[in-house]
Amino acid sequence: MTLHLDPRAPWVVSTHELGRRPGAMKQMHLTLPAPAETGVDMIGVPRGADVELDIRLESVMEGVLVTGTARSPLRGECARCLEPVTSENEVSFQELYFYSAEDAAEDDLLLDGDLLDLEPVFRDAVVLTLPLSPLCSEDCAGLCVECGVRLADAEPGHGHEVIDARWAKLQGLVPEHNNDQES
Ligand SMILES: [Zn+2]
Ligand SMILES: [Zn+2]
Repeated sequence: MTLHLDPRAPWVVSTHELGRRPGAMKQMHLTLPAPAETGVDMIGVPRGADVELDIRLESVMEGVLVTGTARSPLRGECARCLEPVTSENEVSFQELYFYSAEDAAEDDLLLDGDLLDLEPVFRDAVVLTLPLSPLCSEDCAGLCVECGVRLADAEPGHGHEVIDARWAKLQGLVPEHNNDQES
């Protein structure tokens, strides 16, 4: 589980000032470009969008505890009508980065010297908050099953001749039947 972080990578943060002294603390405000693939199929944070982070780095015995919030735009499409959906996302997270792999479990994050990578924590936090079926509006009527037109954009009472024709046929049969009985 060795990792080598690039100190120039935007999401890599230095904890050097903390000096590995338990109790030492550092607050940071960062604006970082959203990493790729932060999201699920239908919705996510657009790559490169501004992510506003407020984080606190706290030195503890085993490593550095990171607590923070991240605000970012969201973009996706409505699960019913496929119109673009835009909104904002705010997530909170807390993660302990371990100094040594010996103290950490397999899924735990490690520091690389003084460096830690915020990207996986941000990505996981965002994905957990995303709706499985994003909607353009709570009561989106979706698409017409016959022609695929977006019902919100269609004429009120949008419908198709297929159904009308069937009714007309039935209506035509009824009087004939009645006439037979009368005669
Ligand atoms: Zn919709
Ligand atoms: Zn239609």
